[in-house]
Amino acid sequence: MDFSRTEAQQRLCDEIRGFAREKLDPGTAERQVERFGRELWEQIGARGILGSCVPEIYGGRGRDVLTTILAMEALGEGCRDNGLTLGVNGQMWAVQEPIQRFGSEEQKERFLPKLCSGEWFGAHGMSEATSGSDTFALKTSAEREGSDYVLNGTKIYIGLAPVADLSLVFASTAPDKGRWGLSAFLIEKDTPGLTRSEVKQKMGLTSSPLGDLVMENCRVPGANRLGPEGAGLSIFNHSMQWERSFIFASHVGSMARQLDETVAFAKDRRQFGQPVGHFQSVSNRIADMKLRLETARLLMYKAAWTLDQGGDASMISALSKLHLGEGFFASSIDAMRIHGGRGYLTQYEVERDVRDSAGGVIYSGTSDIQRQLIARLLGL
Ligand SMILES: Cc1cc2nc3c(=O)[nH]c(=O)nc-3n(C[C@H](O)[C@H](O)[C@H](O)COP(=O)(O)OP(=O)(O)OC[C@H]3O[C@@H](n4cnc5c(N)ncnc54)[C@H](O)[C@@H]3O)c2cc1C
Repeated sequence: MDFSRTEAQQRLCDEIRGFAREKLDPGTAERQVERFGRELWEQIGARGILGSCVPEIYGGRGRDVLTTILAMEALGEGCRDNGLTLGVNGQMWAVQEPIQRFGSEEQKERFLPKLCSGEWFGAHGMSEATSGSDTFALKTSAEREGSDYVLNGTKIYIGLAPVADLSLVFASTAPDKGRWGLSAFLIEKDTPGLTRSEVKQKMGLTSSPLGDLVMENCRVPGANRLGPEGAGLSIFNHSMQWERSFIFASHVGSMARQLDETVAFAKDRRQFGQPVGHFQSVSNRIADMKLRLETARLLMYKAAWTLDQGGDASMISALSKLHLGEGFFASSIDAMRIHGGRGYLTQYEVERDVRDSAGGVIYSGTSDIQRQLIARLLGL
């Protein structure tokens, strides 16, 4: 097994890390007011980050998945704005990927270039008030009227919803068939009957706007149905394999940066006449942070390799989501504790990772749900 990077991969990572440090990281603290601007999104698009593994004919760079993951890691290492990098990953894995896999030629040509260039924001709408973990209990309906569908329902907790130019929304076209009666729709922002809510305040990831998508007799052209009628379950499951595998790709970069900064602090900060890193209770925490980082990488790279080979990533994506979500949260708490009072004060920008990482044990299926999936795949 070869764990080395090619020269091209190393060059790409250096370039993306440098871009993130220079262009995206400055202003992170000021951006903690629930939004980031389109200019930033367009810069990320222009660098070929959003479209990294989308074919060139649809506005992407046509890179393999593993190389893309390495680049996303570098993005998070260079930019401390976890809300921004989460938004990038959310759009790539849960909107662009399903369009790439299930979209018609016309849909790919119409939507992917705008998403890849950063001209458009894309959202993925599944969760509803009565269907969170119990995903397929959703109530949103889509009834055929001529060549259109009329959608009614409300999606909540949707990342980028308040600014989304395009939303991938799941609805039932055949309620009597349960999860097998679901279909997926690509809804453009000016579609009559669609309302994007105001930004909802939340605990962390504050620069990334989150809100509701409300559909009231929302008339969606049949040409905007993604995949065949009834294919919603397959599309959602496919999206989740990608999202769960890589939604934390940039947060792994954050964990690397967090570890470097914590080691530097533990060497520099002196108490009782010695660096605090000499105390085993501090160094043990740092060893745990290193272990979480390295195991996070292994799981994520294996998921990337599996998907590059066209394999089934059900197990590895659940393992990856569970371990990376819990790992980033645990390491963020360790980093805060090691920094002492400094770790708790907002001005030092250590505590932000705790608030940002907390969301990762909930979105894309909670840790409890990932454990259930893993157990089920083991035959329990
Ligand atoms: C920051 C953030 C971003 C999000 N972005 C999106 C998005 O872009 N698109 C989208 O569609 N959704 C999004 N969500 C919604 C997210 O996917 C749901 O919040 C999540 O799936 C949990 O659903 P719920 O909130 O209804 O909790 P519930 O399902 O009500 O769960 C409540 C508690 O019960 C536990 N629980 C539930 N069922 C079981 C079970 N069978 N076994 C064991 N424990 C169980 C859960 O683990 C949890 O602890 C986002 C959420 C957050 C916080």
